[in-house]
Order: sequence, then C-alpha cells, then structure tokens
Amino acid sequence: MEAQMIPLHTFNLIVIGWILTGLIIFPAILSITAPYGRHTKKGWGLLINNRLAWILMEAPVLLIFTLFFLLDSNPRSLVTWIFFALFMLHYVHRVFIFPLRIRTKGKKMPVSVMFMGVCFNLMNGFLIGYWFGHLSPPYSISWLYDPRFIAGVILFFAGFITNLCSDQKLMDLRKGGRTGYYIPYGGLFRYISCPNFFGEILEWTGYALLTWCLPTLSFLLWTIFNLVPRALDHHRWYKKTFPDYPAGRKALIPFIL
Ligand code: NDP
Repeated sequence: MEAQMIPLHTFNLIVIGWILTGLIIFPAILSITAPYGRHTKKGWGLLINNRLAWILMEAPVLLIFTLFFLLDSNPRSLVTWIFFALFMLHYVHRVFIFPLRIRTKGKKMPVSVMFMGVCFNLMNGFLIGYWFGHLSPPYSISWLYDPRFIAGVILFFAGFITNLCSDQKLMDLRKGGRTGYYIPYGGLFRYISCPNFFGEILEWTGYALLTWCLPTLSFLLWTIFNLVPRALDHHRWYKKTFPDYPAGRKALIPFIL
C-alpha cells in the first residue's frame, strides 16, 4: 500500500497515547456497566440485532489487520505469517462463527455500544497491522526457538481453548429452546464467573509475548480494560440474581479477583 509512512517514533507515541487513554478512562469504564447482554437497559439510543452487531463490530479488525499486513512494504517471513495465522484463528471465529452460534433470539444491542466496539477494533487492527506491515524489524527463524515465542504460543492456545469451551458452556445453558440466564457449572466455572473472559485475556497475553512488541501489548491492555469491569459486573449480577450462587467463586481470576 503506498500510504505515507508513519515514522517509528511517531507510531510509538501513538501507541503509548492509546495505552494512556485506556489507563485514564479505566475508572470511567469501571463505573459504567456496558449495556448489552444481561445488562441491557433503555436510554442508550437506537438498537440493532445482536448477531448482526457482533459481526459488524468485530469485522473491521479482521479487514484492517489483513489489509495492512498483506499490502504494506515489510517483507513477510514464516514468523510473521504465524503471527498472522494466530490472529486470524481468533478473529475468523469471532466474526463468522461466534455470532452465528450464540443463542440470542430477539436480543438487541445499542448501536452506540457497537460503534464504540468498531472504534476500538479499528484502532487495534490498524496498530497491529501497520506494525507488522510497515515498521516491525524482521523476525528471523530463530525467533521460533525463543522462550518468549514458545511460552506465548502455549498461553495463546490455552487461552483460546478456555475461551471457546467456556463460551460453549454458556451457549449450552440455553439448549432446547431455553431462554434466560442460569448458573453455569463445570470447567473453570468452578472457580470463576467469567472463564470466557479469563481465556480471552490469557490468549492476548500469549500473543503479546510471542510477538513481543508494543502494539500487541497495547491490545492486551485494552482487552483487560474492557473485560475486568465486565467480569466484575457479571459477578455482582450473578450474586444478586441467584441466592444459591456458589459462594467461593471469584469473578475473573481463580482465588484472587
Ligand atoms: P458474555 O459472557 O456476557 O455472554 C456470552 C454469551 O453467553 C451470550 O450469548 C450470553 O447471552 C450467553 N450467556 C452468558 N451467561 C449466561 C448465563 N448465565 N445463562 C445463559 N446464557 C448466558 O460475553 P460477551 O457477550 O460480553 O462476550 C462474548 C465474547 O467476546 C467472549 O468470548 C469475550 O471474551 C469476547 N469479548 C472480547 C472483548 C475484548 O476486548 N477482546 C470485549 C468483549 C467481549 P446474552 O447475550 O443474552 O447475555
């Protein structure tokens, strides 16, 4: 892509600015309950079909990352193709499979929430794609034996599988045409209310480790800024809604949070 190149130091400043923005608004995110799913409420404007919202919200990151990765000037190597493939593994599922599988009949999401998600995804897709497409130093084949890469891949897959299996358990709660909410049991639900979010955070921790760069660290931090407040909201909601909710269960991190 013949776009004007952003110098490395300017790019790094943009990423740091993006991280600082997240840190600054984190207290606000903590105090506002994201109004979708069980926390849906009136007053957030126009609504859109939930399934469609998920597709529209998540697709931009897939498109923009692919565009910058494939069309920009940096030579691609086996290592960067692996980075690309792992990112695609998550997002092809998130955009094309997850929204079609959720049991979300009749549910809607505020367009404003979807719009915020689109902005978040565009920014992250741009930062990571531009980095690998334009600015990242070459990764030699020896990176595949680096302990950061190996540990990162293990964490990534552990997180991916945890996220997938936990989301599946939640979907199973509405098998047989059931609607509404139930207490999930089994797997990591024994210890925490939101193992799907725990898995997602683990996955991007692995990705930040295996790619070892600022844009993927920024993406991990933003995932934490989004999911910690949502996990705390879910956990409070479970305890308030179900008097028999397992008392020892934590919100997001087994035995800790
Ligand atoms: P939730 O856990 O709120 O919901 C997941 C699905 O399961 C929804 O369809 C929900 O229905 C259903 N569900 C949840 N709990 C129950 C229950 N107790 N009984 C019956 N059904 C239930 O996750 P999110 O919708 O917030 O997120 C979905 C995925 O997206 C997750 O994998 C998450 O990790 C990821 N995500 C990633 C973010 C990031 O920053 N990287 C940000 C947000 C999400 P309903 O919609 O009706 O509540």
